[in-house]
Amino acid sequence: MHSFRYRQGLLHCERASLEELASNYGTPLYVYSSQTILEHYRKLDLALADLDHEICFALKANSNISVLQLLAKEGSGFDIVSGGELYRVIRAGGDPRKCTFAGAGKTADEIAYALSVDVLSFNVESEQELIAINEIAGRLGKIAPVALRVNPDVAVETHKYISTGKAENKFGIGFERIPEVYRNAARLRNLRLCGIQTHIGSQITEVSPFAEVITKLLPLVASLQKDYGIEFFSIGGGIGIAYHDALQSGDQGWWKNHEPTFTIQEYADAILPILRGIPVRVLIEPGRYLVGNAGVLLTRVLYIKESPTKTFVIVDSGMNDLIRPALYQGYHEIVPVRESASEKKFTVDVVGPVCESGDFFAQGRELPAIRAGEVLALMSAGAYGFTMASNYNSRLLPAEILVTGADAQIVRRRQTYDDLISLEMG
Ligand SMILES: *Cc1c(COP(=O)(O)O)cnc(C)c1O
Repeated sequence: MHSFRYRQGLLHCERASLEELASNYGTPLYVYSSQTILEHYRKLDLALADLDHEICFALKANSNISVLQLLAKEGSGFDIVSGGELYRVIRAGGDPRKCTFAGAGKTADEIAYALSVDVLSFNVESEQELIAINEIAGRLGKIAPVALRVNPDVAVETHKYISTGKAENKFGIGFERIPEVYRNAARLRNLRLCGIQTHIGSQITEVSPFAEVITKLLPLVASLQKDYGIEFFSIGGGIGIAYHDALQSGDQGWWKNHEPTFTIQEYADAILPILRGIPVRVLIEPGRYLVGNAGVLLTRVLYIKESPTKTFVIVDSGMNDLIRPALYQGYHEIVPVRESASEKKFTVDVVGPVCESGDFFAQGRELPAIRAGEVLALMSAGAYGFTMASNYNSRLLPAEILVTGADAQIVRRRQTYDDLISLEMG
């Protein structure tokens, strides 16, 4: 579900024409729909209404301050993985006391910063980290709220780079060791055991692993509540989204067979009966689900190049702007913002200007006739798009636009050459 539609042959984000935005603000350009973000947030919130719950948006998916503001105003909490993300939440007017601080490698500075603003919880991934947090809290005269991240050893069908809940992944503390680690943690004087957390991976396309992991952890949650008075169980994020949808049917690619087979209501129907009566609050940490379908990346076609075996559509955006295809075979639908009059399709590779063979957005893709100069939209680029962008090849980071109805606000300006070198001492 999203707010990108053709109207009179022109692709719109809500009521803003994407062709017009590309002309006004240049390309590559990220465009987000505030309506889609809010609809997804509200839908999830409503689906979980029967449960004492808190939604903590995982802002590594999209950390633009204006996007965070939108969610903070809805009452969202945040799942952060760095001091920088915490700073963004605070600058966006978000409540640090609704922030869970995740990540396997928190530094002493980050821990001190998070303690100073009273985050809701440190989601801890190792025993050494527990000891470090205890020590820093002691030095600052604080009591640190901690939850252990459990690695439940549950298999999920997703790309190996984004599966996190198997024993061989680096994340969390092994299920079997959890009672012992809580016992040890309870002896550390500057810690308060406030919860338990798990996260089994991203772009999960079936509800069964969620239900399985919750079922597996529930007795543990109950006993930790009894023994230590923990207050929450965070079930993590990972809800998959559709990358192939109504605008155009897709081609090959790893993701094709990994589309979600469930709606958010089905997700709630699968987990609510298990969680009913749970003695603690339930936290959920969606990233992709809230913002993935809410964004597109606009790029202009520079050249069409015919080789003896292939046709390359060379565009002005590359893997530095959107790395998902190169990094984990991520699939993005590609559509011209000016709807093609003909049904005829051609097989092309859509590639960027970066000096890497991995710099492609699509290979062997069936697209309508594409001409140099026209604007293409890479759909469902709102999550893990801009946040993973880099200056590789000294390319400038794109601008970002947030659309609300017919109103389009520039929420991050395009980098300039001066920005590019501004931190260097040359
Ligand atoms: C990345 C991450 C999330 C969000 O994952 P999505 O697949 O974007 O929902 C939630 N919790 C933790 C701990 C994460 O690392």
